[in-house]
Amino acid sequence: MPAIAHIGVGLASKRITPKINVGWLILASEFIEVIFMILWAVGVETIPTDQTGSYSPFSHSVVMGVFWSVLAGCFVLWMSKNRKTALLIGFLVFSHTFLDVIASPKTAFYAADTGIPIFFDVAQTIGLGLWRYEVVAYIGEYGFVLIGLLIYLLERKRLKRMDLTS
Ligand SMILES: [Zn+2]
Repeated sequence: MPAIAHIGVGLASKRITPKINVGWLILASEFIEVIFMILWAVGVETIPTDQTGSYSPFSHSVVMGVFWSVLAGCFVLWMSKNRKTALLIGFLVFSHTFLDVIASPKTAFYAADTGIPIFFDVAQTIGLGLWRYEVVAYIGEYGFVLIGLLIYLLERKRLKRMDLTS
């Protein structure tokens, strides 16, 4: 079960920053998942199963969430020289950690999930655990994507209309 709710956040942020391609916004909101996939591919981090929680402190811990967000923000600032864009990308990257803390432990999807590690010790976790409840978890994941998509489509329509009138 991929965490698709983050995509909704990326889509919706188009409303704040209409000039940036939505692909970059989605990438920013899922950047931590990209880091995880790379670390998973090289065998450092693991996907949770029903028996074991995930091991993903380098991508998903709170402290690394801050680190990746600052790194992404600095990179964008360096590339674009645009402070607002850099700040927004930084916040988008951090929204991943923030949402994961609210949702985790996601025991509705992974029975043994223990939550988001604060530092590198995976025994020390935080999380409100909203995704403990299956109904909340499904409505949450798909709801975020649908609402994000709706905001994105409305924004695109608005931009097109502005383009026609200008
Ligand atoms: Zn994640």
